[in-house]
Amino acid sequence: MKTIETPVLIVGGAGCGLTSAIFLARLGIESWLVERYPTTSPAPKAHYLNQRTMEIFREEGLAHTIYGVSTPAENMARVGWYTSLGGNGELDRKTIHVMDAFGGNSLKETYERDSPCRAANYPQLRLEPLLLEHASTLPLAKLHYNHELQSFTQDQDGVTGIVLDRSNGETYQVRARYMIAADGGRMVGPALGIAMDGIDRLFDMVTCHFAADLSHTIDDDSLMIRWFINPEKGGSWGSGVMVALGPKHYDRHSEEWLLHFAFQPDDPAQFDEASVVPRLKDLLRLPKLQPKIIRMNNWKVQGVLARNYRAGRIFLAGDAAHRHPPTTGLGLNSAIQDAHNLAWKLAAVLRGQAADALLDSYEAERRPVASRNINWAMLTFQNHLVIDAGIGLIPGAPVEINREAFRLLFSDTAEGATRRQRLSEVIKTQRMEFQAHDTEIGFRYDSAAVIPDGTEPPPPSLMGDVYTAVARPGHRLPHVWLTQGDRRVSTLDLVGHGRFTLLVGPHDAEWREAAGGAAVASNAAIDVIAIGDGADYRDASGDWARLRGTDDQGAILVRPDGHVGWRTPTGGQAAQRGLVDALAAILGGKLKVGLAA
Ligand SMILES: Cc1cc2nc3c(=O)[nH]c(=O)nc-3n(C[C@H](O)[C@H](O)[C@H](O)COP(=O)(O)OP(=O)(O)OC[C@H]3O[C@@H](n4cnc5c(N)ncnc54)[C@H](O)[C@@H]3O)c2cc1C
Repeated sequence: MKTIETPVLIVGGAGCGLTSAIFLARLGIESWLVERYPTTSPAPKAHYLNQRTMEIFREEGLAHTIYGVSTPAENMARVGWYTSLGGNGELDRKTIHVMDAFGGNSLKETYERDSPCRAANYPQLRLEPLLLEHASTLPLAKLHYNHELQSFTQDQDGVTGIVLDRSNGETYQVRARYMIAADGGRMVGPALGIAMDGIDRLFDMVTCHFAADLSHTIDDDSLMIRWFINPEKGGSWGSGVMVALGPKHYDRHSEEWLLHFAFQPDDPAQFDEASVVPRLKDLLRLPKLQPKIIRMNNWKVQGVLARNYRAGRIFLAGDAAHRHPPTTGLGLNSAIQDAHNLAWKLAAVLRGQAADALLDSYEAERRPVASRNINWAMLTFQNHLVIDAGIGLIPGAPVEINREAFRLLFSDTAEGATRRQRLSEVIKTQRMEFQAHDTEIGFRYDSAAVIPDGTEPPPPSLMGDVYTAVARPGHRLPHVWLTQGDRRVSTLDLVGHGRFTLLVGPHDAEWREAAGGAAVASNAAIDVIAIGDGADYRDASGDWARLRGTDDQGAILVRPDGHVGWRTPTGGQAAQRGLVDALAAILGGKLKVGLAA
């Protein structure tokens, strides 16, 4: 049997697998990616790319391309709840509530203050081909669609996968030092016997991807998501959620749309396309609509977390490691962020710069984040029931009672005004989902690859919306605009690209010497960047001096993934020796130059 040798075998060519191949290639590491289908998935699936993901794409040089083809900022500034798009009944075409979201309108200033990247909205069925095209330009990313991993074994030195080339029916063997299971949990995790803890099937969902001209029914182009709630269909999850899918327009003229419907797991109607189209027309109150159904997808809402992310030389990532409800849009974002966390660690070990122990920090860092994300997505999913209650819907009550609740809500009476006020107060709690700024960029890592500096984290944002910028070890380096000559540069632009970065004050000579010593001891490159008066980068706003938590003599060591690994509030010889120890500890222990994985 033919044998391919590769440093990393990647199983799955969707969001997680493709970004793993891209990030590894950028770091000079070859990978062999196998995807069982001939193309990327035609299912719309996820669409929201949060600011952290876009920062990662900015580092990769992809953010600009994505902004150029995805939803314009003005078309993703809000979300809304409506009774229907059409119809002339007394309760039809009513706006229940509209909320600023994803950094739009009232949120813009805060989101722009905290990141050089705005969030984006680009359906996964369009993002994956874009990632595939980009990955295809990277010679080290060896991409093999229509190739399926059939079985695998591992030993002390590597992983052996048996792959079927479905185009010709031939099997071949891939011998890799490491394997990333980005297979959505379909094969590798179950074969390893890794338990998935949590709720396996909360609801069944049907996603209906259709083409239709809805332009005559929509008069507000600022919304990215529309919920339809009416007394006949029950609450949020009994009704439907609609998103514009483009591809040319992401406003009322969107050519394609998706509608998610929830079904009870035992309801056979979910598998019957003929029953879903009438349901769609009925929900929107557009009886004459002739939607062209492009695709229907059945999927289940889960909240499950892999008990282990690592089994020897195999790592679970993306949906293989965690699957959550779509609320807050953390599925694809977490998958890409897993890949980003794992790639630099694998690269450092494969290059002989780090010990194997660094790879343990992948689970130690990403699993708690996934656990938090699952809980968050579950909570924000359930909170739609709070909105239903705010509207006055009583689950299981006769339709007439719920219809009366809607009538009262929209009535021009004192009670109507009180009910609308109650709803506006209740619905604000859904900022947990649509304004989840801290949940998206404020997460932090605690692991052996982070050296604590004795400071406490900022108080948690209980609703996940208030992000506090800190340069504390474990946190993502905060974004501050600096200047270099006439150029505006984000602190985030100074880090990454597979290198450690030491951010210091303007008098950098001693730190340069210390960084040189640390780099020799570990064989890992450290860029030293001086910020302040007279240095290459100036802090004209003073924001960096305010956030960094050091004086002008102190230093911050930023890991290749943009998270702070170590910080010293001030300088001096002990601090500079501390850098050598910190780097060695982050890289998995005391190292000898050229240590091989
Ligand atoms: C219908 C649907 C709607 C969704 N909506 C949302 C949403 O609105 N928001 C959100 O955040 N998330 C949503 N999600 C979840 C989101 O799409 C996932 O979190 C994301 O796709 C995870 O990416 P991944 O690459 O880890 O896994 P996947 O996208 O599942 O990709 C895994 C890939 O591995 C391949 N594969 C599996 N086994 C093998 C094998 N043995 N050999 C080779 N290849 C293999 C599969 O074919 C697949 O292409 C949705 C998911 C679905 C299914």
